[in-house]
Amino acid sequence: MLKEKINHIFFDLDNTLWDHRKNARLALKKLFDNHSLADKLNVDFQGFYKCYYNSNESLWDKLRDGKIDKTYLRKHRFYDVFIDFGFNDFELSQTFEEQFLETIIEFNELIPDAREILQYLSEKDYVIHIVSNGFQEVTYRKIEGGALGAYFTTVTSADEVGVRKPNPEIFQYAVDIADAKVEESIFIGDDWIADALGARDFGMKSVFLDLFNQNPYAEGVLTIKELKEIKQIL
Ligand SMILES: [Mg+2]
Repeated sequence: MLKEKINHIFFDLDNTLWDHRKNARLALKKLFDNHSLADKLNVDFQGFYKCYYNSNESLWDKLRDGKIDKTYLRKHRFYDVFIDFGFNDFELSQTFEEQFLETIIEFNELIPDAREILQYLSEKDYVIHIVSNGFQEVTYRKIEGGALGAYFTTVTSADEVGVRKPNPEIFQYAVDIADAKVEESIFIGDDWIADALGARDFGMKSVFLDLFNQNPYAEGVLTIKELKEIKQIL
């Protein structure tokens, strides 16, 4: 249990509550088959997915660090993978990008115990919020599709603030619209730099959801391996 009184809980969305990795994989499989990419790229889905995953993670790290913008990411994440397999079709890569955002929200797998934990926290009268680096176009639809909307009092999307976590401005914005005090707030997220260190450096209590058992350590960050461990803290 935390010694200090907490009233507001800020969650990251993707891969903290909404299982972006699983839903992305399901969406990509559908599009991969629809566009006959196995023939065009001469690779099976497993090989395509692995290449996409590495490319996408690297682009998202660059986006978080402000080295590229969202337009660049959306232009390149599939085009670069196509090129890696010797298939040069920019137009199809952009169609793929458009359809990917439409298709991913057909799937609504959640991180284990996400709904149970949100229910538990709301019954304990915590005020719950979302702060997401994801694209605004899909953030709200993910929340609705996952039937999670009722749990959240405010939703902050990086696109609407114009900066992404770990920039302290987005944490300040979220705290302001939540009408919360930093000292009575806690942040829970799965990205070590954007969420765990970002929230800590902003001055908030910080919980890192270590889904891949990476065991990083930093003073002022509490690490959990599963969402249900939140019950031991709050
Ligand atoms: Mg995340």
